Amino acid sequence: MRKQSGAELSFQFWEQAESERLVRPVCSSCGENFFSPQVLCPNCHLDTWEYQESSGEGSIYSFTVIHRPPDSNFPIPLIVADIELDEGWRMFSWIVDCLPTEVDLGARVKVNFMDFSGRKLPVFTLKKKTT
Ligand SMILES: [Zn+2]
Repeated sequence: MRKQSGAELSFQFWEQAESERLVRPVCSSCGENFFSPQVLCPNCHLDTWEYQESSGEGSIYSFTVIHRPPDSNFPIPLIVADIELDEGWRMFSWIVDCLPTEVDLGARVKVNFMDFSGRKLPVFTLKKKTT
């Protein structure tokens, strides 16, 4: 399959998000998980990758709190985080349904899908501690 522009590369990602599935590129040659989608696998430089569904579970690698988002459609405050998914890839997203003071580095999170600007956006919520 030929993969070209950024929009084409991410088309399937957004299509799956509409069905509330989080996917990421997985290289069938070397097994690398990566994000965002690129024409060639960043590890082995072949174009032999395809989207596979993620568990949607991971932990917070880093985060920042934005108190004045670009416009009033955004949650306030907006918690933007670099999420490390359990399959070993990372994506930027938002942490929702919690206070900034509840967010910690390494905290466990799970994907959720939020209606935003006419499409479903993958965001993350804190997983409640079970102990
Ligand atoms: Zn590869």
